Amino acid sequence: MKENNTNSTELNESNIPTKIYLSEDEMPKQWYNLRAFMKTKHAPFLNPGTMQPCTAEELEHVFCKELVSQELNQTDEMIDIPEGIREFYKMYRPSPLVRAYCLEKKLGTPAHIYYKMEGNNTSGSHKLNSAVAQAYYAKEEGLTSLTTETGAGQWGTALSMACSFYDLDLSVYMVKVSSEQKPYRKAVMQTYGANVIPSPSDTTTVGRKILAENPGTGGSLGCAISEAIEVALSKENCRYVLGSVLDHVVLHQSIIGQECKIALDKYGVKPDMIIGCAGGGSNLGGLIAPYMSDKINGKNNIDFIAVEPASCPSLTRGKFAYDFGDTGRTTPLMKMYTLGCGFMPSANHAGGLRYHGMSPILSQLYHDGYMRAVSVEQSAVFDAAVKFARCEGILPAPESAHAIRVAVDEALKCKETGEAKTILFGLTGTGYFDMAAYTKYLSGEMSDYIPTDEDLVPGFETLIYPEEK
Ligand SMILES: *Cc1c(COP(=O)(O)O)cnc(C)c1O
Repeated sequence: MKENNTNSTELNESNIPTKIYLSEDEMPKQWYNLRAFMKTKHAPFLNPGTMQPCTAEELEHVFCKELVSQELNQTDEMIDIPEGIREFYKMYRPSPLVRAYCLEKKLGTPAHIYYKMEGNNTSGSHKLNSAVAQAYYAKEEGLTSLTTETGAGQWGTALSMACSFYDLDLSVYMVKVSSEQKPYRKAVMQTYGANVIPSPSDTTTVGRKILAENPGTGGSLGCAISEAIEVALSKENCRYVLGSVLDHVVLHQSIIGQECKIALDKYGVKPDMIIGCAGGGSNLGGLIAPYMSDKINGKNNIDFIAVEPASCPSLTRGKFAYDFGDTGRTTPLMKMYTLGCGFMPSANHAGGLRYHGMSPILSQLYHDGYMRAVSVEQSAVFDAAVKFARCEGILPAPESAHAIRVAVDEALKCKETGEAKTILFGLTGTGYFDMAAYTKYLSGEMSDYIPTDEDLVPGFETLIYPEEK
């Protein structure tokens, strides 16, 4: 984007509206393939049987062809968004970029705070950006059904919406504790026609095995993934889709960062800091994509921050190693920061952040020093969530509130130093289905759990491939 600050009629930072909207025409027509810009590509997926890099053919047993091709594409910098996907995007995008004037005032900070609001759709999160793309390609390939897992429920909801739009059958394995805590999430998915099964279940071999080994378990994302993959492999014209972690999901989420950059460039605003919560890493990867490629090329020195729960600290305390993406050890091996595929996260109200691993793209960028990571405790997160809701109006998802917490902390540091930093963070979704967690916080019953080093040992022991030295 060309800079144009010589023209006096040009928009500038002194007249920034509270919401910067883009028109439909300004919505990006291509996704931004961050991986193509990376100097060090992440290590390839390995087939655990042969320990050789996975071929496209192997991956196509599980995933749609086009998604496999995107997954393995490390050369094309930009990838076209098909018109059939843009049509759906236009129903809820471009999403607003908001200047948090009220929050700035409340904090008394000289910092300029912006957030990208991705909760403006029924799924209540950014996950729809990839769900739409994945369902579209499945339909194009002539598939008739999809399977997936969902933790907190946002991904399952997003995919239910996409599958009903493109007319595909969908089975969602929903982490059992979530399905019990969030009956209305389940009802929304059913409204869009999805078949929702609490996981672990007795409908799969791996589910029955996990139940036998951990009777009474509330389940985990890792278990639910194993079940969904098993069903996809055993059914004709059916594939599995995943809502985070993988490169093609990060690719689809790049629409977030591109829209931010188009909006901010209009006003000549350059972020000093970009903050996002990190579960599997897709929203953050998408948010930072166009800015990170500039950093890699020495064109900016933005401070990129991944925020994770102290109870599930894959970047801050995990190991950089080859690991499975699921508890049942059925996925290819991915080189990533991980707590071990057998890690059983403690109950934490940000369900979307309870995953043992991290996107290989983000893991590599973190390993190479292009970004940093911090972990935060959940009561501090809810404290920020409630403050934010009360002054900015939006009731954030607990996952998103991780980013809010750190944005607020950084803005308060600016207050001390007097620096007017520009902070951009991703507001990934709304928290209407998380009111049980809010209620717990408001009644003072929320506790923080930080695993000790010893607590992390059992998870690391399930890591069967050596850690990077
Ligand atoms: C799933 C989810 C996340 C975390 O997933 P990433 O892949 O790390 O982006 C964050 N926020 C919300 C609202 C979610 O639903």
